[in-house]
Amino acid sequence: MKITDAQLKQIYAHAKETYPAECCGFLVGAFDNGGVVRQVQPAANQNTTRTDRFVIAPAEFARVQFAADDAGLEIIGIYHSHPDWPAIPSQTDMDNAWDEVYYLITSVHEGMPLNTAIWRLASSGLRRFEAVPLEILDENELQQ
Ligand SMILES: [Zn+2]
Repeated sequence: MKITDAQLKQIYAHAKETYPAECCGFLVGAFDNGGVVRQVQPAANQNTTRTDRFVIAPAEFARVQFAADDAGLEIIGIYHSHPDWPAIPSQTDMDNAWDEVYYLITSVHEGMPLNTAIWRLASSGLRRFEAVPLEILDENELQQ
């Protein structure tokens, strides 16, 4: 999956802002060419009772979906942060995952975003996540 340096920084800023709670949001773009992110759309985490969960309101999901449609784009992924936890999917992430969608997870250590990994449900066999390579582009590369 491809994302620009600026988009990744946007996610890191969001992750810092919500720490020690999880941040979450949408990756809007196209599934072609291995997945290309065009927009990062932050969402409000509706879960306020614990710091290791995120919940996105259906209305917010619908709003981003409609806006993506209008722009000829799709929701290709969901991002969220793991405060003081590695960038690997939890059991909850697994239980809530949809096919084909990219899951970007940023690990945040003591308030500082450390690293990011992309995951997607395996297309066949047992239900499991597979790591997806992340390619970080600068804006100029995206426009080509
Ligand atoms: Zn998670």
